[in-house]
Amino acid sequence: MNINDCRNIWVFVETEHGQVKNVALELINEGKKLAHTVGEELIAIVIGHKMENVVQTVISYGADQVILVDGAEYQDYTTDAYTNAFTKLIKIHQPSAVLVGATINGRDLAPRIACRMGTGLTADCTGLEISPEGEVTWTRPAMGGNLMANIICPNTRPQMGTVRPGVFKRGTSDKDRTANIIREEISTPEKEIRTKLRDFIHVAGIAGVKIEEADIIVSGGLGIGKAENFMLLQELASALGGAVAASRAAVDEGWISPLQQVGQTGKTVGPKLYIACGISGAIQHVAGMSSSDFVVAINKDPEARIFDIADFGIVGDLFEIVPLLTDEIRKR
Ligand code: FAD
Repeated sequence: MNINDCRNIWVFVETEHGQVKNVALELINEGKKLAHTVGEELIAIVIGHKMENVVQTVISYGADQVILVDGAEYQDYTTDAYTNAFTKLIKIHQPSAVLVGATINGRDLAPRIACRMGTGLTADCTGLEISPEGEVTWTRPAMGGNLMANIICPNTRPQMGTVRPGVFKRGTSDKDRTANIIREEISTPEKEIRTKLRDFIHVAGIAGVKIEEADIIVSGGLGIGKAENFMLLQELASALGGAVAASRAAVDEGWISPLQQVGQTGKTVGPKLYIACGISGAIQHVAGMSSSDFVVAINKDPEARIFDIADFGIVGDLFEIVPLLTDEIRKR
């Protein structure tokens, strides 16, 4: 594609059981800022079946336009059908940049599209900037998280990247917003879809909520002492309707699943409330949770670095404080 013919920033709207994933709303908000900086539009790409609610949601969260591909073959995500539809859309509309959430499906889809388009892809980004000429600088941790790399895609379009969930904030919803909806008829023959979804097996954090989707996170570090003690955090998280997360040190001990790890080499989260229990506040941990709206730290060491970034700090033994907190919240 000729660079000069390419316009607008696209966001792939990933859904799960008919609900828009938070990361798509985060990317719509951030992508829109980038697009408007260079006088372009943010276009949400919705692929699925019976997606009226999804389309309305992404418009309410600020998409300037929506391109919709509807078909029974897109009911559930499959690599072949979604790659086919998305690649055809790119050839028709020629976007300048495409943002995809760095989720399991996003990490599957984006590289295939990039390969078919013969363009570059920066995976797992934690920062985005745009030049006046529309060139995106994609920032991502590199060399095992020891340095941050700034990557550009100078010679091909679209510029593509996957972006970690929780790095950016979603905007506010305005149900009265309207936007243009372009409906594209793209079908994928059944014989081209090599995989079939037979069943969903729900995998979630121990609190039953995925940390990247949670508004409240109770997180534990080495101070928790042993795997069984995570039940204390689980009880607090359940009382608050949140999820349980952990530092890498706790994950390395085998106390909790790596799916729950927050930080530079784990997940990036941005909940409304992050309660750090027995976590020292190492820079690699903070990198994954510093965009939280409100941070509460419980640590028995008054010098712990976590207090430098906490909005509210409790110096004390988590084994005394966490049960008191849980009891108090249950009473309300
Ligand atoms: P510690 O640093 O040992 O802290 C434990 C804390 O618990 C202490 O502050 C202590 O005072 C407190 N404590 C102990 N007992 C109690 C109690 N009873 N009540 C209250 N407080 C108590 N780390 C991550 O978390 N995520 C990452 O993604 C990550 N990526 C990394 C990538 C690289 C390349 C490297 C080099 C490191 C990475 N790390 C990561 C590791 C990081 O540097 C720290 O080692 C780790 O975050 C420390 O975990 P922690 O805070 O649980 O443990």
